[in-house]
Amino acid sequence: MKIDSRLLLILLIVFSFYSCGSKYYVRQNFTYKKPVDTQTKKIDFQEKKLCQVKGIYADNRFDGARLNDFTQINDTTWQVLIKPENSPINPSPWFAFKLWSAKPDSIYVQIKYVNAKHRYRPKISHDRNYWKAIDTFTYNADSTAIVFKQFVNKNPVWIAAQKIINLSDTQKWIDSITRKSLVVERKVIGKSVLNKDIPYFKIGTDTASNTSVIILMSRQHPPEVTGFMAFQSFVEELTENNALTGAFFQKYEIWVFPILNPDGVDLGHWRHNAGGVDLNRDWAEYRQPEIEAVTDFIVKEAKKHRQKIILGIDFHSTFKDIYYVFDEDMKSVINGFSPLWTTSIDRLIYPFETKYSPFAPTQPVSKNWFYNQFNAEGITYEVGDNTPAKIIDKKARIAVVTMMDLLLQWKF
Ligand SMILES: [Zn+2]
Repeated sequence: MKIDSRLLLILLIVFSFYSCGSKYYVRQNFTYKKPVDTQTKKIDFQEKKLCQVKGIYADNRFDGARLNDFTQINDTTWQVLIKPENSPINPSPWFAFKLWSAKPDSIYVQIKYVNAKHRYRPKISHDRNYWKAIDTFTYNADSTAIVFKQFVNKNPVWIAAQKIINLSDTQKWIDSITRKSLVVERKVIGKSVLNKDIPYFKIGTDTASNTSVIILMSRQHPPEVTGFMAFQSFVEELTENNALTGAFFQKYEIWVFPILNPDGVDLGHWRHNAGGVDLNRDWAEYRQPEIEAVTDFIVKEAKKHRQKIILGIDFHSTFKDIYYVFDEDMKSVINGFSPLWTTSIDRLIYPFETKYSPFAPTQPVSKNWFYNQFNAEGITYEVGDNTPAKIIDKKARIAVVTMMDLLLQWKF
């Protein structure tokens, strides 16, 4: 009898360990206080076309473009009409088009938004590489349109809400990053609704043993380019060969998902994927193929080497720089990391300020998935729409160094 009860106890302990582990390594579905319907919805595809009105040309035949119509509204003004992919939708009216003329001329360009107020200061580029903000423009009475003066000639200019970084640009950037010695794996982990690649790469060492994992991701929301720029600087700093990364990648590895919504990015969407859904609300039921692929990959990859996911950082943009973090009730495996980390960043980037914004886990966003699935810390790293590129880069690099410093000292 004595032996039996001991055996029973051992079995119970083994079973409880096993069930705990198996739950961690099997993707769960979650219910939230504020669930979101992420069933596929219809979208309106913009017609790809070259428009010509009285010698002025506008063109949306490139990936990342958005221009729904082009008309002349008076002697000197041409209107660019911008519509969302479907509605209701977050008011992030993305626009991107090429503009030129048969003869040199100065014209007024009106950008008119359907169902949204103006948000993004227009940027102009002559080579799609160097971009400059157009500072002088006027609003109409209800802010649903802006007008600016533009010199045009036979050489096309690109005009867009933010610097255009489409899937092909992102793949080229990944090519350059994955040449670095700290990137040890690169692959396609799934396909989007329109069958585009969802790229992934891993930063670390070849052996996965005993390493904890940090996940980085971006471009769930297509127009949020400043967040992606921060993500790029973050990854670039992480792949530098130096003493800090040398020590860091003995203990940790980083799994990187640069573009989770390639269709939305290339279609010039305001918010959604080609299934008409906000992907950052689908981290509970996995109804869209992009989120299905990334969550399935993370869980299976973690299971393969029994690795622990400890932190997920999702890069976005909004009006101002914000850290969306957990509220006090949520105790992750690195509980306390977010306040320490963000305070360190803020001290080093002073006087630039970032809002610290704790959030209850009421919605199926990536940050909450990291917590519910892995008990990991989750952070949404939001960059302001108008945060200068130099600040974005400097802050991201500070963020990497402070993150590595903190985690190297971390006692689990
Ligand atoms: Zn976002």
